[in-house]
Amino acid sequence: KKASIGVTGLAVMGRNLARNLARHGHTVALHNRSEERTRSLVEQFGDEGDFIPAYSAQEFVDALERPRQIVIMVKAGGPTDAVIEEFAPLLEPGDVIVDAGNAHFADTRRREKALRERGLHFVGTGVSGGEEGALNGPSIMPGGSKESYESLGPLFEDISAKVDGEPCCTHIGADGAGHFVKMVHNGIEYADMQLIAESFDLLRGAAGYAPAEIADVFRTWNTGRLDSYLIEITADVLKHVDAATGKPFVDVVEDAAEQKGTGRWTVQIGLDLGVPISGIAEAVFARSLSGSKPLRSAAQGLGGPSRAPLTGAALETFADDVEQALYASKVVAYAQGFNQIQAGASEYGWDIDLGRVASIWRGGCIIRAKFLNDITAAYADEPGLPTLLTSGGFRKAVEDAQDSWRSVVSTAVKLGIPTPGFSTALAYYDGLRADRLPAALVQGQRDYFGAHTYRRVDREGSFHTAWATEDRTESPS
Ligand code: NDP
Repeated sequence: KKASIGVTGLAVMGRNLARNLARHGHTVALHNRSEERTRSLVEQFGDEGDFIPAYSAQEFVDALERPRQIVIMVKAGGPTDAVIEEFAPLLEPGDVIVDAGNAHFADTRRREKALRERGLHFVGTGVSGGEEGALNGPSIMPGGSKESYESLGPLFEDISAKVDGEPCCTHIGADGAGHFVKMVHNGIEYADMQLIAESFDLLRGAAGYAPAEIADVFRTWNTGRLDSYLIEITADVLKHVDAATGKPFVDVVEDAAEQKGTGRWTVQIGLDLGVPISGIAEAVFARSLSGSKPLRSAAQGLGGPSRAPLTGAALETFADDVEQALYASKVVAYAQGFNQIQAGASEYGWDIDLGRVASIWRGGCIIRAKFLNDITAAYADEPGLPTLLTSGGFRKAVEDAQDSWRSVVSTAVKLGIPTPGFSTALAYYDGLRADRLPAALVQGQRDYFGAHTYRRVDREGSFHTAWATEDRTESPS
């Protein structure tokens, strides 16, 4: 019997993906650069399904049904290219190579093009949900050709997470579309985490709640519109008490947030595409600031406002106000992320169904949340929606939240509690809805020092004012 799919790269992710496939009744060929991982998988989990271990590239390729489907799950970057080069010469036209690692979508586009010229399908696939997701059902975001999805799709849909009976897997679009969408998913994840962290900081710093009390507040929120995996785990983290010291866990952890790079990629690409994804950018910068230890220690003692915590009515409504601010800021962060996907789709010619993207994020991945149903509904109501903020339901909810949102941001400013996520989201909202922006003045400055020209509100064409002359005459340019 031959295998319907093979997995090469059997560290935590590959091993769990292979086990997930086998548990669903698929025969899986196994391969890893060093033999040990292959052997241990078969020894420990061989009884979970049908595995065909292979100890050479040729043996692996020979174990597969045609068209062959090979999933590469190795360290992203050079190793992925090395593995592709190892297998591509052994494959035949129509075979499919899947890269399920965290590749940069530009690498995926390059690899897809090169392999297409060799008659092979190359499918860059986002896989979200970490090792637990890989084993029990991840959210899967495959790019590549439609044709490759015909054979691969049923397998991936089978092993993906399911929500309301629907698989959290769909064909995202051609070449690098899957990895692009996975990248933006991670960027949104950064923004969402930052906003939740700011909510905690405010509840503690402005309202004086203890971490365990904040956990209870989050648990309450988790029964409403903010119901999500991230809120749920945050409550657990905040409840946790350090065994060694008896202190809240959150107080014994060093406050320097690390990052692996997908958030940074999202922001870099946002800049390249000219999409204002300020919520994601602030979240990445907030991690960088937290990790800038020398800078932070040099700045210790810089003057701030005296912190008189809230009292009376302001204190009473504060948790609810923060919930509103968190919700509104979250809508902004997702609106920005979906606009980035839209911009990527138009730049690279992908046909991406944004409502479907939201729906496959409902299970398996880190940002899974009820809220995503509302995004799917928003795009179903209006497929060409320019921003989530103008769709009926979100518009009303954010308008209703704005008084609280503004009050929370101003409390933060007054008390000197940093809320880059809440603040930038509000500035974006106000920027978008503004009738006139001071960009007109910026255009004047640019024309003054660089003769960069400007357009007028009342006439067609570009103009330049002779700023250095006395009469400052304007002429068309
Ligand atoms: P690692 O990223 O730690 O990679 C280890 C695997 O890569 C091993 O199988 C290793 O083989 C193989 N490898 C490294 N270099 C080479 C090479 N030059 N040639 C052949 N094989 C090589 O494994 P993970 O399981 O953590 O992640 C796999 C992929 O999944 C990565 O791209 C990662 O970014 C992505 N990912 C990871 C998630 C996670 O939560 N860990 C979540 C989502 C995606 P050997 O055993 O011989 O050293």
